Amino acid sequence: MNLYPNFSFQIIQKSHKSEARCGLLNTPHGVVETPNFIFCGTKASIKNLTPRDFANEGTQIILANTYHLMLNGGADLMEKHGGIHKLMGWNGPILTDSGGFQVFSFGYGTVANEIKGRRDGGKNNRPSMIFKIAEEGVTFRSYVDGAKKIITPEISIETQRKIGADLILVFDECTPFHVEKDYTENSMHLSHRWGKRSFDYFVAKNDFRQALYGIVQGGVYEDLRKTSVNFVNNEDFFGIAVGGSLGQNKSQMHDITASTMSHVNRTRPVHLLGIGGFADIIHGVECGIDTFDCVHPTRIARHGCAIVRPNILNKFSKTVPLKQNNEFISLKNNIFKEFDGPIDDDCQCYTCKNFSTAYIHYLIKANENLFMSLLSIHNIHQMNKLMKSIRNDIHQHGDLQETKKAWLMDF
Ligand SMILES: [Zn+2]
Repeated sequence: MNLYPNFSFQIIQKSHKSEARCGLLNTPHGVVETPNFIFCGTKASIKNLTPRDFANEGTQIILANTYHLMLNGGADLMEKHGGIHKLMGWNGPILTDSGGFQVFSFGYGTVANEIKGRRDGGKNNRPSMIFKIAEEGVTFRSYVDGAKKIITPEISIETQRKIGADLILVFDECTPFHVEKDYTENSMHLSHRWGKRSFDYFVAKNDFRQALYGIVQGGVYEDLRKTSVNFVNNEDFFGIAVGGSLGQNKSQMHDITASTMSHVNRTRPVHLLGIGGFADIIHGVECGIDTFDCVHPTRIARHGCAIVRPNILNKFSKTVPLKQNNEFISLKNNIFKEFDGPIDDDCQCYTCKNFSTAYIHYLIKANENLFMSLLSIHNIHQMNKLMKSIRNDIHQHGDLQETKKAWLMDF
């Protein structure tokens, strides 16, 4: 029986030099051209933007976080008032995560950093908010009202049904990088049992409005990743998400992604959870990843930063040495007071067409929130431009050389 009659994934072009492919991900709320980037609308809002703003900059799909919507009453509100698409005023595809990543990320404090290969020496450690991880599920303290809560695979899927996104995820345990292999292995098996329970609950309640992704765990251990991929391949999930810790640095992350992807069923759409750097996306696409998500583009906008390609970074660096992070600039820097032009002359976003860096710098200094909207618009436009460049490259050349030349500093 086809569990997903209203969904399909067609691969329309394959690279002859890598595993990169272009596809069409069809959902009841429209088509996503892949590879693509999914922007984070954590609590059912892309912070500081209306759907008109992010649609105008080329966005095709967004996501919301089940953990927040479960705790802040959002899920119940959506069930009562016709679902997330209607409430948000966004009629395009939406994905929700299962709440697994965030319950553990809030619980352990440093999971998010470790997954991305950043270790901060425990500076951002918060006290654990998890009471117990058991076969049934996870009990934890709500950050909203301090109440004791439980999340199980069934509660996660039920909450995602109430929210009503198109693509939904199984509930899993997200382990931090620093745990031993034994822990990672036991946790992976627990995630598989939770994955199976998520699937069974999904099938029992399936009304064909949603499609379920399984999640590959296994941490940094190749053999565990292979076991986990086999589990996900063998269940009737619509798509596959790669989750968990991918290592403590970029090179380990790339190795783990490549070895994991070498086992993945190539007919399904594959999502890489929580990864959004240019080099990581390009490498992921070459391994066969179809979609990515990360809070980075909109989060750094709220801190006054604009995503830029290396040529723009180099242009500004000639005047004043900027902190070299390769992918964005901080418009808080006083040098921008003097720049009359846009962030990027070649950028066709609403912000670059209408505003100068000097004005955005001024807004930041004056504490005017408009800068957050303007920079979010620019950053979303840039990420969509990167993904479009990747798709064009695959279609036209079969490799990503042009994209690499334009987007990678050391290429
Ligand atoms: Zn722009």
